Amino acid sequence: SVPILTIDGPSGSGKGTISRLVAEKLGWRLLDSGALYRAVGYAAGMEGLDLSDAEAVTRCAQTTKIRFQAATDGSDTRVLVNGHDATDELRTETAGAAASAIASIPSVRQALVEMQLGFRKAPGLVADGRDMGTVIFPDAPFKVFLTASAAERAKRRYKQLKEKGLSVTLATLQREIEARDARDASRTVAPLKPAADAVFIDTTGMGIDIVVAKVLAVAQS
Ligand code: C5P
Repeated sequence: SVPILTIDGPSGSGKGTISRLVAEKLGWRLLDSGALYRAVGYAAGMEGLDLSDAEAVTRCAQTTKIRFQAATDGSDTRVLVNGHDATDELRTETAGAAASAIASIPSVRQALVEMQLGFRKAPGLVADGRDMGTVIFPDAPFKVFLTASAAERAKRRYKQLKEKGLSVTLATLQREIEARDARDASRTVAPLKPAADAVFIDTTGMGIDIVVAKVLAVAQS
């Protein structure tokens, strides 16, 4: 069967960067499940839907076409939402908040299950998200839960967004991220929590290379 490494954790834990680097090292495919929720939140916004309208947003999740287009020149993978390159819009904290809002609707999560399972292909998969090891791939042989202090997570996101030329203030960003994390952790459907068999790694103060090495060690155990 196809080996799977799940990497779950809150925003800014380094999941995105670490998952990408580990997938490259292993030569495995990558599932950025957060991008799926962001894409649905974005599509729903474009359609002018009320994000708390479960029925309308579920229909949107069922019909939105999401495609990942790997760049050939080493630049970031593009995310196409209904044919439109929404990569930059999806990175904003507005998109993160919309994703978090629609992600608390069970039928929306259900609508995205099959698409996520479709990423399970040889030679292997690195699955990045909140519920990869608990709900989507509970039988995965390799599971990691990454975290870091709230202050450090906000700083990392701040740096990322600045690099992408997006203007935010650190204080606002930290407040927004804390609100989103609190919502993700307290929701009744797929609350953010480590799988019982996940290796827990607190990356506060840790360099990327060290975290990559630790995660690779799990996948090679
Ligand atoms: O990881 P990222 O910040 O892109 O995720 C955006 C939001 O999507 C999260 O705050 C969370 O509410 C939701 N999400 C989720 N399950 C996943 C991935 C993301 O509920 N597997």
